[in-house]
Amino acid sequence: MNTNDTVILQDLLSLLKEKFFDDSFYYNIALFFKRLFHSKEAFVIIIDYVNNEALFSSSEKDKELISLEELSKKLEIGDLAHFTTSSEPGYVRGDKQVLIRLGKFDKDYFVFLRELEDNSTIEENFILLLLQMVNFSISLRVKIFEEQKALERGTEEQIRIKNYFKALFHDLKTPLSTIAIALDVLKEKVQGDRDALNVIKQAKEANKEFADTIEKFLDLEKSRQNLQINVKKEDINKVIKNVLNRVIPVYKDKNIQVNVINLEKPCFAEFDPFWMEKALKNVIENAFKYNVENGSITVETIPSTDRVTIKVKDTGIGIHEEELQNIFKEFYRGKNASHSGSGLGLAVTKSIIQAHGGHIEVKSKKNNGATFIITIPKTSYYKQSRKRIKKFLLFALPIIVVLGSIVYFPLIPVKLSTQKSEMATVLTVQDGTTVRLFNDASFSVKRCNRNLLGNRNIISINLMKGNASINSTKTRVYLKTKNGTVRDYGTEFDVKATDKFSNTSVLNGKVSLKHLYAEKGNGIFATENGVKVVKLLHPVYNFSYKNTENGALQFSWDAIHNAKYYQIIIAKDKALKNILKVVTTPNNYAQFNIAKDGYYYVRIQAVDSYDLTGMPLDIKVNNEYHLKKGIEERDKGNIANAISELKTSLADYGFNNPDVLSELAWTYYAKGNYEKAVSIYNELVKIRKMPKDQVRLALSYTHLRDYNEAETLFISLLNKYPNDADALWGYANLEFARGNIDKAEMLCKKTLSLSKKYPLANYLMAEIYLKKGNTTKAKESLEKEVKYHPDCKEAQELLKRINQG
Ligand code: ADP
Repeated sequence: MNTNDTVILQDLLSLLKEKFFDDSFYYNIALFFKRLFHSKEAFVIIIDYVNNEALFSSSEKDKELISLEELSKKLEIGDLAHFTTSSEPGYVRGDKQVLIRLGKFDKDYFVFLRELEDNSTIEENFILLLLQMVNFSISLRVKIFEEQKALERGTEEQIRIKNYFKALFHDLKTPLSTIAIALDVLKEKVQGDRDALNVIKQAKEANKEFADTIEKFLDLEKSRQNLQINVKKEDINKVIKNVLNRVIPVYKDKNIQVNVINLEKPCFAEFDPFWMEKALKNVIENAFKYNVENGSITVETIPSTDRVTIKVKDTGIGIHEEELQNIFKEFYRGKNASHSGSGLGLAVTKSIIQAHGGHIEVKSKKNNGATFIITIPKTSYYKQSRKRIKKFLLFALPIIVVLGSIVYFPLIPVKLSTQKSEMATVLTVQDGTTVRLFNDASFSVKRCNRNLLGNRNIISINLMKGNASINSTKTRVYLKTKNGTVRDYGTEFDVKATDKFSNTSVLNGKVSLKHLYAEKGNGIFATENGVKVVKLLHPVYNFSYKNTENGALQFSWDAIHNAKYYQIIIAKDKALKNILKVVTTPNNYAQFNIAKDGYYYVRIQAVDSYDLTGMPLDIKVNNEYHLKKGIEERDKGNIANAISELKTSLADYGFNNPDVLSELAWTYYAKGNYEKAVSIYNELVKIRKMPKDQVRLALSYTHLRDYNEAETLFISLLNKYPNDADALWGYANLEFARGNIDKAEMLCKKTLSLSKKYPLANYLMAEIYLKKGNTTKAKESLEKEVKYHPDCKEAQELLKRINQG
């Protein structure tokens, strides 16, 4: 190692150490190689093969995201083929440029140098050594950042990465101690060379720091998972003094005054001395690390009857108030943290203290020192809590069992009511919760229980495959798919499950799957690779429907842009239990043949590319095929057919549907069967109060010459609706039939003043005029009738007769 090499190594070591957590980490490495190769320009290139793009930066701030094609144009050095076969660090040197691969991890990291000034004479082996060091640092950095990101996301990935990380760190312990030994050997060799010794010292420090970080990380893992604490009755003051004896010499250059209060006499508590020492060392060492030169530290223990409090106070740089809640999180390093560290120490401490049943808090202000307060119970937390629990259980167990099973736990198996059709199996819990399992579903009901009071139910279903739709009121539903169990309470959701994925659309309320929650309007898409929450498509709008010529029921609605297809459920009931049809269509219309007239309940949902059903449109539709057909037949004059269609319709509805009754009565009226008409209209007016029906009833009475009945009806109608043209015209007819020509004339004129084209009103006027001997006026009226209603046969005939004289 020559002097120059020593300086270079020193340079690199301090860079790796100081910039490790910085954004400018890679750019600083580029600058390092720029100096090394005497080049004029350095670039960082980070290639992301997954997204087919590269980050290209020519300075700390100038970062550009470009495609790989653009990159190869920019580089002017052909392709990166040299590097594609291995993932090792290395470099290729051209005439005036160098491409250095730092390493391939989550991405491929390069430094590109241009305009080399001379052919520097660095030994290739030395460059490769430097590259190995950089490579190692990047690998750690990438892992730490991944870990940090996963922690923020809090996904399953976290566990995966952590396990990987743990394994990696475990493996690193050996090489690190080998490096330590190698450095010792090297030290022997370069005795006398002060520069070299200095570098070795730095390398040893860096090495120790890595080793410490790794140890802390592994501690954290252990303490969090299955920290085996072996509590003993021990003197906590002795532990503190041990720690101080170890830490003080390390920081002697800072000239810090250490004050202790209450440490002279022993202070006993039950704890694990091995772990407690680690916990206290982190806090006490921080008090030194984040202290100012010539500052002071005060360590105090305060015993009370059942606990011991340990205060560690320093006069250091303090912590920003908004950072206080974060410093116990793993990998969190404060803005003040100019010293090297991992951000793991306090996380380790916290979990150790918690494992002892104690707690830790911090009080601090920026630039105003910090005080860490740790409290642990004197008697072991485990023993204590076990004792307490035992005592409590002895006393309360019988009560818990009795009350719990009565009031709380759904223990009693109940039978579900099951409705099976070709389309779906619908399970109903007595509280009204419905689970619809469509015909493609393969499922099994694991259990359905309720508690004694019947106010808590649980239903657990395995959905191996297919579609389900759940509307739960009081029942907690556990719907298990290959990708996890959907849990819900008082919500409405759709689930689709296949071998590869399962998805849940939340139509109401909130459900959970694994650690994710989704609320109304969102869906959870789950595969074995993970879960994510997706926004659901909105309900379809502008829905309309009609009966086609051939009797089918036709729906249409506005297409939704991102819909892959639409799912339509048609049921006989509002709760969608009695399902008749389940149809999917890629179009924004659909047609169904539904034999019977009646009301149907329809749910339409757009389905997105995740196969998630969107928010539903729930509507009630009226299939009135036979009703319409009946009217059509009557208009054609096929009265018998009309009556038969209308009777079918009425039977289909299954109740006295007023619309059908009204048409049926009118058809009998048209046929001249006024008795039938009267009896049906009498039925109808009991159900609905519409002037039109009452007028027709009164007219039927008129035809039956039941004038008094008719008159009573007309008078009561006109009292209520003095300007009802139907009633006025009907009444005019009655008076005409009775021979009250003047009254008939007055009423009919009033009708025409309200509506000059009122059907048959001009015809009635003509008859009135004829009765009065005014043929001219009668002709005029008839001409009007024919003009307004060219189809009116009565008017045409009468006109013909008058013209013939
Ligand atoms: P590290 O010291 O390795 O960064 P720690 O978990 O021990 O990690 O501490 C987390 C952060 O808390 C530190 O980065 C620092 O910002 C802050 N901190 C801890 N102790 C003190 C202290 N005594 N004074 C000021 N800041 C502190």
